[in-house]
Amino acid sequence: MAAVSEVALVHYHEVSLKGKNRARFEQILLSRVQEALFGLGLKVSRLPGRIVVRGMGATQRAEVRERLSKVFGIANFAFALETPPDLETLARLASDRIPEGTQSFRVSAKRGNKRLPFTSVEAERRVGAAIVAATGLSVNLKHPELTVFLEFALDRAWLYTDRDRHPGPGGLPVGASGRVVALLSGGIDSPVAAWRIMKRGAKAVFVHFHSYPHTDFASAVKAKREAEVLAAWQGGARLHLVPLAGVQAEIFAKSPEKYRTLLYRRFMLRIAERIAEREGAGALVTGDALGQVASQTLENLHAVSKAVASLVLRPLVGMDKTEVIAEAKRIGTYAISVLPQQDCCSFLEPRRPATRSTPEELAAAEDDLAVDALVEEALAKAQLVKIPSPYRAPAPPDPEPPKEA
Ligand code: ATP
Ligand code: MG
Repeated sequence: MAAVSEVALVHYHEVSLKGKNRARFEQILLSRVQEALFGLGLKVSRLPGRIVVRGMGATQRAEVRERLSKVFGIANFAFALETPPDLETLARLASDRIPEGTQSFRVSAKRGNKRLPFTSVEAERRVGAAIVAATGLSVNLKHPELTVFLEFALDRAWLYTDRDRHPGPGGLPVGASGRVVALLSGGIDSPVAAWRIMKRGAKAVFVHFHSYPHTDFASAVKAKREAEVLAAWQGGARLHLVPLAGVQAEIFAKSPEKYRTLLYRRFMLRIAERIAEREGAGALVTGDALGQVASQTLENLHAVSKAVASLVLRPLVGMDKTEVIAEAKRIGTYAISVLPQQDCCSFLEPRRPATRSTPEELAAAEDDLAVDALVEEALAKAQLVKIPSPYRAPAPPDPEPPKEA
């Protein structure tokens, strides 16, 4: 280690981490940070309570910042000077770290190791006095314009200010909570639902159902672009494109009109459940929000879920549309979601959809359908799009509609 060098210092929330869980979390976060910084030639190491990224050139900061801001599990990260844990060195370097035009400051020190030969308060006083002597700034402990942070481990220290510190997305690193299959419709809600579960540490495998050739293929292309945006948050993604036209034609011909939309949903879950088994995923995720449309009443959500044994997670269930839209904009999927598409389910939509169905009613409405055969047939015709991490390789071309349909 050079005596003094610029690093990125990555912090995570430790409150909810205990015992064995914590070591596992740190190991997964370390590999997520390594993956996110792939190709930049940086060295990523795990130290007690933090991760340090070394070898960064000044021109790489913006790129590192952009990439770390998409690693779940990071509470915040700071661009910091790494130095020996020695107050003379820190006192000498601190004033250079203060941006032009600052009026007042304070120093806040944190010792990770109690065996250091000085207390936190001594460190704050010593470095604060050096800054005052070098710059003439005033100290303001209650409402400083700038805070200078010192962190100490036994063999090194870090120096940065709040201007050098950036928020991470929080949550848990992807991989900490296993895998899920997320149903992506091409609309606004489902990518946000997937993102929320990814944020809690689950890697999402995506499934989209299209009605080609009854509709165009635009929804599948949109789902692929949404999956690309989401892939940056989890190091790549797999997207299964499943034709639903065959299932829909059967439902149209053989089931009561008012249940159509709900029966489409039941088939979507069944097919997604089969994909989850193959992908080793423990749950299905949808973008339903309570009461948003007729198919999303409590009764209908329940009756649809009963088509499968799987856990169906609906992370947006208590959100307003305005909240979902704001989040979609932050994530970067909104602009894709509002592009035109022919929805697979507005096609052949019932005039008066059932708003309170029961699982028994829906099962009866499927009496004349060869459920298993329809599921198999759709699975057999599915396409798989593999999207690499954007830091490793460019995205594949947009998918083409299936040839024989
Ligand atoms: P979204 O904005 O995600 O389309 P929505 O509010 O329009 O949601 P619906 O169209 O009723 O609601 O769909 C509810 C959920 O069912 C979606 O969020 C999605 O998870 C799943 N879903 C619906 N259509 C499809 C589809 N064609 N492919 C994959 N999943 C779908
Ligand atoms: Mg929709």
